[in-house]
Formats: sequence, structure tokens, C-alpha cells
Amino acid sequence: MKEILCKLLVIGAGPGGYVCAIRAGQLGVDTVLVEAGKLGGTCLNVGCIPSKALIHAADEFSAIRGMQARSTIGIRVENCAIDLAATIAWKNGIVGRLNSGVAALLQKASVKIVHGQAAFRDGKTVAVETETGVQIIRAEAIVIATGSEPVALPGLPFGGRVITSTEALSLTEPPERLVIVGGGYIGLELGTAFAKLGSKVTVVEATPQILPLYDSELVRPVSRRLEQLGVRVMTGAKAKGLSSAGDALRIETSAGREEELPSDRILVTVGRRPRTDSSGLEELDLDRTGPYLRIDDQCRTSMRGIYAIGDITGEPMLAHRAMAQGEMVAEIVAGNKRAWDKRCIPAICFTDPEIVTAGLSPAEARAQGYEIRVGQFPFSANGRAMTMQAEDGFMRIVARADNNLVIGAQAVGNGVSELSTAFALAIEMGARLEDLVGTIHAHPTRGEAFQEAAFKALGHALHI
Ligand code: FAD
Ligand code: NAD
Repeated sequence: MKEILCKLLVIGAGPGGYVCAIRAGQLGVDTVLVEAGKLGGTCLNVGCIPSKALIHAADEFSAIRGMQARSTIGIRVENCAIDLAATIAWKNGIVGRLNSGVAALLQKASVKIVHGQAAFRDGKTVAVETETGVQIIRAEAIVIATGSEPVALPGLPFGGRVITSTEALSLTEPPERLVIVGGGYIGLELGTAFAKLGSKVTVVEATPQILPLYDSELVRPVSRRLEQLGVRVMTGAKAKGLSSAGDALRIETSAGREEELPSDRILVTVGRRPRTDSSGLEELDLDRTGPYLRIDDQCRTSMRGIYAIGDITGEPMLAHRAMAQGEMVAEIVAGNKRAWDKRCIPAICFTDPEIVTAGLSPAEARAQGYEIRVGQFPFSANGRAMTMQAEDGFMRIVARADNNLVIGAQAVGNGVSELSTAFALAIEMGARLEDLVGTIHAHPTRGEAFQEAAFKALGHALHI
């Protein structure tokens, strides 16, 4: 039996694991990375990247189709159609390019990649089932970065017409009737895309509001747009299972009535759970917080020398959090002093319009005992938004009333995802409202609304 000795072993090559391995390699740490599937994990292969490709294609198609029906800006379109199989091939091309890119970066950092399923033998030893037999790896430090997988509902097992986001991202034709269970991130991002591609979409959400993580003011423009797109949104409704003929979803509505929703596909997006049963974790008996591995501020688990990063460590299950944890752990394993001390983890929902949040909402800030100033600026008063036909939505800043420190920033609007960088930077650097109004914001941009919201919080908005 072959055996490899190394300083660092990373299990899972998603954004957490591959970033950790690259940084460790750059720092001269002798590193092995094990991956059972494809480099890039959920994010690159069946998550962030493919979903954003599909959303982009749907946006383009919907915009052009809109011009065919009625052009307000002087562009006339005769015929417009989409070949979803070709769109999916284009998306797969992007994924392939990024897979190769990650492989090249790992190679450049001298990381050894082992393909296969890893299982713990003990706290220092892992066995990997490879194509050529079992490979034993012994390491001084091990990082568990095995990610997450979709949650299935009782009565709605995956298979046949009941699908996960992974299958949804490879459909070569839009389903005629698509029922989505779960109006969270994935359900609404993909639901919006499929509605634009021509599907008749129904969203069944258990709580009283779609996107329950966001405040209702931020969600309102998204609800309006879903209505325009003809998406039927049923809140306070529970999925009960398949109809006896298997061609409809049985639900209980908010009024307590039973209803059947005929569907060609039922996309279940009710959350993801940590992948804790893929790597022999039962051998180690690590402490948990709920279903997740418990970690401290250095991503150390309850066992010495074993770290955990990414989705397996809990919410928020976001690629950029996994990457930041991976980078930090590599530094720690290399002997550098680092700890998790982030002011915020920005989050974006790529709906139409997009929602972006960083730090605290007004309600969260008040609940934490802060007296606050809030500045809100509508995109209907922003020149660039007008020229982009994207006036719905607003920008909001939350600052402490005593010293004007910015503790939160949120926006809903077309293209606002790119503002997440400015929001996170302002909060992480400890900016005050005076810093934002004192920074020249280039004109005409939607980003100017950030400065205007700060002016407004200080009580003297210029353009409203
Ligand atoms: P993963 O990316 O899940 O990677 C884990 C890897 O470990 C996998 O490749 C798996 O094969 C491997 N593995 C598991 N067990 C073993 C084993 N025993 N041996 C070897 N290998 C193993 N996040 C965002 O920030 N922005 C987005 O826009 C976004 N969009 C998303 C859209 C969809 C449809 C989905 C499903 C998710 C999206 N996410 C998004 C979430 C994001 O993909 C995850 O937060 C991120 O991928 C987590 O990274 P990770 O490294 O923890 O795990
Ligand atoms: P989610 O937690 O975002 O949404 C799940 C939704 O399903 C919630 O609104 C919940 O109330 C609802 N729900 C739960 N049980 C239900 C039931 N029985 N019937 C009806 N509704 C029910 O989960 P998701 O959309 O599956 O996404 C999983 C994770 O992936 C997210 O939490 C996020 O961390 C990540 N993600 C991020 C992005 C992004 O950053 N843009 C995009 C996609 C996914």
C-alpha cells in the first residue's frame, strides 16, 4: 500500500479547500489536496458560477425579447429565440476553463492533488480510494473542507421530476411548468432565470415572506419583478409530497387548504446540509454545533491538528467565506499568527433586481442596542440608474448615532452586486459617514448613491 507523508492535507477542493491549498503551497508548506469530484467543488461546478452563467443568459434573452415586444429605447428586434442546450454548452465551457485554471494554480503552488474519496483512519491518517487503489496519507495537519449538499424533503425524494439545483443547471430545455419548493437564494435566483427563459414558475415558500433572511423593504422590488414576470409566489405554504399520479406537487396553502400544482419539474431548494458523512468523520467524534463541525476563531475543531472550513462549519454558506477561512488556515499552518476577526461577510442575492447586504440592517443594529442614523437613497434619483432603465430599488446606510461609524450597508437594484466591495471595504476599514461623503464618487455611476445615502444620514442629501 502506497503512503504519502505531508505537512498539510486538505480534504475537498471547493473554494475553501483549493484556496487553502494554494496559499499553503505559496508559503512553502508541503501540501496534498484530495478531491473526490472535480476541482472547484460546488461553487465552480454546480453552484455560483453555473448559476450566474444561466442568470446572465436568461437576462440577455429576456431583455431582447422585451425589445421585440415593445422597444422604449429605439432598438427593434425581429426574431428572438433561445437554444438552451447551446447556453448550457457555453456554461460548461466556462466551468471547464475555470477547472483548468484552478489545476494550474495548484500546480504552480506545488500542491500534490490526489483524486478520490478520502476517509479518516485516525486524527493524522486518511485513506483515499483512488482509481489505482487505496492511497494512505499521513499529515501533521488536516483541513476538512468537504462542503455541503442539498436537503431533501420527506415525501419528495430526489429523482424523476423532483430535482436539485445541480440538475436544474443542466436542463437543455426550460420546463413548461416549474414548481420550486423554497423561496430562498437558489429558488429565487433560478426561478427568476427560468421564468425569463419561458417557464411558468410557481414558488412555494413555507415562511410568510420570500427570502426570509432579508428585511421586507429589500425584498419588495424583487417581489414586484417576480409578479411582472408572471411568477406565482405562494408564501406560508407547505409542500406535502407528490400527487398520486406523480405529476403534481401536493401543498397545504397558508389558508390550510390542500392544493395540487401540476408540474413538469419540481425543484427543491430548501437549504443545504453539511457533508459530514462522506469522509469517515465518525472515527474522530469531533464536537458539533447542530449538524455543523464546531470551530474556534482559527477554524480549529475539537481535535488538535484538525481544522474545518467552508460550508461544513455552518452559516453563512458562502464561497467567499470559505475562501477567507481557507486562506487564514494556510497562514496558521505555516506558523503565522492569524485569527478570524472580520467585521462583515457581504451577501448577495442575484435576483432581479439584485440584493446586497453587508453588516447590520437597521433592525439588527437596534436589536444589538445601537442608536443609529439611517440614510436611504432611491435609484429613481440616480442619473446612471435612469440611463440603465433600472430605477427600482435603493441604497441604505446604517451608522452609529454617537460617532457615525458605518456598521451596515444594503442595496436592492439592478447591478448592485458590484457594490458589495465598497460596502465591505467601508465597514472593514472602520469608515465613518464623513469618510464616505469626503470620498469623490465618479459620475455617473450607481455607486454615487452610496455617497448620497451617507449625506442623507448626516442630514444634508444633495440630490434629493
Ligand atoms: P464545496 O464547494 O461544497 O466543496 C467541497 C468539495 O469536497 C467537493 O468538491 C466534494 O466533492 C469534496 N469532497 C467531499 N467529501 C470528500 C471526501 N470524503 N473526499 C474527497 N473529496 C470530498 N455562494 C456564494 O458565495 N455566491 C453564490 O453566488 C453562490 N451561488 C450558489 C448557487 C448554487 C446553485 C449553490 C448550490 C451554491 C451557491 N453558493 C454560492 C454556495 C457556495 O457554492 C458554497 O458556499 C461553497 O461552494 C462552499 O465551499 P466549500 O469549499 O465549503 O465546499
Ligand atoms: P435558503 O436557506 O437560501 O432557502 C431555503 C428556503 O426554503 C427558505 O426560504 C425556507 O424558509 C424555505 N423552506 C424550508 N423548508 C421548506 C418547506 N418544507 N417548504 C417550503 N419552503 C421551505 O437555501 P437554498 O436556496 O437551498 O440555498 C442554500 C445555501 O446556498 C444558501 O443558504 C446560501 O448559503 C447558498 N447560496 C448562496 C447564493 C448566493 O450567495 N447568491 C446563491 C445560492 C445559494
